[in-house]
Amino acid sequence: IFEVKDLSKSFGKLEVLKNINESIYEAEVVCIIGPSGSGKSTFLRCLNLLEKPTSGKVFFEDVDISDKSIKINKYRQKIGMVFQSFNVFPHLTVLENITLTPVLEKKVSKEDAKNDAFELLKRVGLFDKRDEYPTRLSGGQKQRLAIVRALAMKPDVMLFDEPTSALDPEMVKEVLEVIKDLAKSNMTIVIVTHEMGFAREVSDRILFMDEGIIAEQGTPSEIFDNPQNERTIEFLGKVL
Ligand code: ATP
Ligand code: MG
Repeated sequence: IFEVKDLSKSFGKLEVLKNINESIYEAEVVCIIGPSGSGKSTFLRCLNLLEKPTSGKVFFEDVDISDKSIKINKYRQKIGMVFQSFNVFPHLTVLENITLTPVLEKKVSKEDAKNDAFELLKRVGLFDKRDEYPTRLSGGQKQRLAIVRALAMKPDVMLFDEPTSALDPEMVKEVLEVIKDLAKSNMTIVIVTHEMGFAREVSDRILFMDEGIIAEQGTPSEIFDNPQNERTIEFLGKVL
């Protein structure tokens, strides 16, 4: 679904991504782990062109979306993204948060958008909160809202950047459960996470990033039980 070719990204003199070649396949769940500053978020943000590659190409569903002539918004609709901070609209109710973008950008009828939203809200246990404003939600509830808000666009892939790291510990689980369900539903998912237990349980493949490269990758068992790279071993030694 994604193909990344010779992707490099620099911020000024700082080379953050160094010639990355990688593919993400349909229905795959890929977790990206690695030390702080290794380029995980930048890599994720290059996948939907929130960051512009300094060089190299990003293909999404066989289209070079890094091409300058491309209208990125059209493709971005198919790429849902959830960040660490809860990106919801504070001035809209839970329901309005979910229906707004499909109605505005995909010209879905209000009725259909609302019916879809009800389904999604039930799926993540927020149906009772549909008329509340986000300020009245807990962190975990807000993040579940951010997830269904992205899902309402019926994306082909979901990108998550540390979706639970801003949450109080007791709310982490409810958000991870939602992502696990999503993984079971065959959604293609790329997720940057520090939750190693979760990564192990949910991933088809783990990418270990270090200093701007994917230093090692493999199945959860390969990475967690039998890491080969010295830096992977060192990193896991610190976090496990
Ligand atoms: P963390 O685990 O802390 O989130 P990360 O692996 O996601 O780290 P990135 O956020 O991708 O790391 O950042 C990689 C490097 O790029 C860091 O040194 C960071 O300071 C730098 N960087 C990221 N975004 C920018 C930016 N917009 N301008 C300048 N430097 C940036
Ligand atoms: Mg990051």
